[in-house]
Amino acid sequence: MAEKLFIGGEWVDAQAGETFPTYAPSTGEKIADLAKAGREDAQRAIQAARDAFDNGPWPRMSGKERAERLRKVAELINAKSAEISEIEARDGGGTMKKAMFADVPGGASSFAFFADCAENTADVEDRGTNPFPAAESIVRREPYGVCSGIIPWNFPFIMASWKMAPAIAAGNTSVIKPASFTSLSALEMAKCVQEADIPPGVVNVVTGPGGSAGEELAQHPSVDKVAFTGSTEVGRRIMQLASGTVKKVTLELGGKSANIVLDDADLDLAAAGVLFGTFFHNGQVCESGTRALISRNIYDEFVGMLVERAGKIVIGDNMDMATDLGPLVSPSQVDTVERYVKLGLDEGAKLLCGGSKLTDLPAGLDANAFYPPTIFEADNSMKIAQEEIFGPVLCVIPFDSDDEAIKLANDSIYGLGGGVWSKDADHAQRVAAEMQTGTVWINDYHMITPAQPFGGYKQSGVGRELGDYGYNEYRQVKHVWRNTATDRSGYMHFAALSGNI
Ligand code: NAD
Ligand code: MN
Repeated sequence: MAEKLFIGGEWVDAQAGETFPTYAPSTGEKIADLAKAGREDAQRAIQAARDAFDNGPWPRMSGKERAERLRKVAELINAKSAEISEIEARDGGGTMKKAMFADVPGGASSFAFFADCAENTADVEDRGTNPFPAAESIVRREPYGVCSGIIPWNFPFIMASWKMAPAIAAGNTSVIKPASFTSLSALEMAKCVQEADIPPGVVNVVTGPGGSAGEELAQHPSVDKVAFTGSTEVGRRIMQLASGTVKKVTLELGGKSANIVLDDADLDLAAAGVLFGTFFHNGQVCESGTRALISRNIYDEFVGMLVERAGKIVIGDNMDMATDLGPLVSPSQVDTVERYVKLGLDEGAKLLCGGSKLTDLPAGLDANAFYPPTIFEADNSMKIAQEEIFGPVLCVIPFDSDDEAIKLANDSIYGLGGGVWSKDADHAQRVAAEMQTGTVWINDYHMITPAQPFGGYKQSGVGRELGDYGYNEYRQVKHVWRNTATDRSGYMHFAALSGNI
């Protein structure tokens, strides 16, 4: 039996009756069939969301009433943590450790955070008086309407929560399309929504291909806002599709982030942090610090530490809690990595470790799905240092001055994440201030909280998710001007010009 689509509060098959399989990347075995939504199913979900927004109770409830239901979703997610973690890890190939400590609690905390926003953020702001003519202004914040969310496969559960929770917290309704490799956990989220007594049609989840169901979500006239996380290439397409009806668009796209190791860094801390910053989830993370820029004063010592420690990362069965790195999401992702490694060698980059598929894997694991941490000494102008690989490949690049480090860091079409490693807080802050990127971590990496904004400079995106910044991306701004004068003399138009009216 295939998993169904969640539309208008009901679990339904695709209208054409089609399904598609999903696999566990570690073994290659099929774990489920899912309903394959076509354009007509996406349209039906958009219509359900439209109806729930135009006629249903959700946008008309108080923020407090919505908050109570979002908190219930968070509770249900936490209560089902073990079950959802297992689905998440098996379907996408991430480790159980990541699912238990990042994905599932991260998804729950998005709902909890945006519940607080719904309850505690004012919908009406007093803007004071205007000098001439005498008037008072208020700004009202209102939901957009139907918000679609299209998400990638690398953090399926968290990404679904980043799109769903702020949208519905602000009183919008939502249609979510997960990535085809990893659609199962978004369906679990929909079950929690249903149990939390959120009215039918407020949340809809359609599983299916980007090229049909996804395009419909990006272009349908009844969609008011589209939020997309994925590759920069598809992001450009989303913008084009949304332009037909000038939808509000937010995009979280690719990256090639720089991790700058200054010569006053704690090298132990920095080595562990650079490895985590690059190889966490096999580098299949948009903000991965895949370019380590290293002060020449410490370069040889530091690179030696990286190579030595990279060899100690535990690779294997992702369902085992002792494993640091499991498989990549698919054999085709491994092909991409192999193609880039070959390209790096052709470009003249020096391979320091890794560089070929793992062969000595425990029995039962798919040898085509695993790739070890790979480090190249590279030049920043090389393709392997400019293009997002989305795999476990790090480029190390030396620099001679802060200015050079900043120049190299900013020499990229992207600007999503970044790191600075230094024991001197002022020094680190000076460098962070010059980096053209949406997030900089000092002496850390990959730390994200629902309370702080996340998003990209340059071709890494448009708008922000999370925090009050992210919440406000789901609320329109309406200025209401109230004149407080009782006669219109002194106005520049009609009365003042002609004295006749
Ligand atoms: P992708 O762009 O291939 O797909 C993302 C989603 O878009 C999927 O659901 C897919 O089905 C859908 N899609 C594909 N073509 C579409 C179309 N023409 N119209 C509408 N929808 C379409 O990305 P992916 O391979 O799933 O994920 C990897 C990429 O995501 C990387 O580039 C990574 O950097 C990026 N990413 C960014 C962030 C961020 O927050 N900036 C987070 C995670 C991943
Ligand atoms: Mn899968």
